[in-house]
Amino acid sequence: MARIGFIGLGNMGGGMAANLAKKGHDVHAFDLSQDALDRAKKEGCLPVGSAREAAEDAEAVITMLPAGSHVEQVYTDSVFGTASTAAILIDCSTIDVATARRVADAAAAKGLTAVDAPVSGGIAAANAGSLTFMVGGSGEAFERAEPFLADMGKAVIHAGANGAGQAAKICNNMILGATMIATCEAFALAKKLGLDSQAFYDIASVSSGQSWSMTSYCPVPGVGPESPSDHDYAGGFATALMLKDLRLAIEAAASVDADTPIGAKARDLYEAFAAAGNGALDFSAIIKTSGGAA
Ligand code: NAD
Repeated sequence: MARIGFIGLGNMGGGMAANLAKKGHDVHAFDLSQDALDRAKKEGCLPVGSAREAAEDAEAVITMLPAGSHVEQVYTDSVFGTASTAAILIDCSTIDVATARRVADAAAAKGLTAVDAPVSGGIAAANAGSLTFMVGGSGEAFERAEPFLADMGKAVIHAGANGAGQAAKICNNMILGATMIATCEAFALAKKLGLDSQAFYDIASVSSGQSWSMTSYCPVPGVGPESPSDHDYAGGFATALMLKDLRLAIEAAASVDADTPIGAKARDLYEAFAAAGNGALDFSAIIKTSGGAA
């Protein structure tokens, strides 16, 4: 079993660090929040007083932080200069591709090896140890990161070079945001055309309109398998996080001159929905704007 430094014990990182401790790893955990540290201690981690302490003598340093600025700051101020060159540095946060590449290059310049390994799956998957990791880094770095990630997830996939994990994550979520809106619009239109939502689901879920947004996460309450729509859109994947990922996707698209009009429209619609006070609701709640909820 390994000594692991884990930095960022929030909604996602808390459960991930706990799963590593459950697998028998020696998890030295740090967060700016005392509550998060207390929770980590209850879950079998050893709370430490700084990110530097977490990184010291670790075989793997894992970060799960809000955004690129946090990751860059923690790496620059605490991980670089502390972590051993034998350690694998794994950032599981969802951040912009440019920062992910910059951090990996800075690590390499110091003789350190870093991968970006953002996740698919929300808080429930983080707690259950069933996340999917998409990993950007060299083949050798992937092999070193893989066993640690496997202890927190159900799938660990090598996406390509540094930054490719983040690219996969935001492209995936751009599809998700757009298909959710399209699914919501279709349910709303079907309803206005006099079609029962369940009947429409029964047809579209086995026809070419089928998607994950429809059959695994139906935005209409009482239709399809249980999802946040059945709990008044509480829990799940917050609108604010979907908006964050869509903004990252559109920013990345601009940086490589890619034309993504549907992604940009999805970003605009989620921006308006969040600005209306819905940021904490699950992202499928956007169906409320088209009037398609049953
Ligand atoms: P969160 O805000 O709950 O947790 C972030 C934690 O980082 C907080 O506990 C905060 O105190 C801590 N932190 C911030 N700066 C720090 C620093 N300098 N040193 C130590 N700790 C610091 O966020 P989350 O929901 O856990 O999300 C984490 C990342 O995972 C984000 O990038 C998010 O986009 C991504 N993500 C989240 C979900 C989800 O459903 N919540 C799903 C997939 C990916």
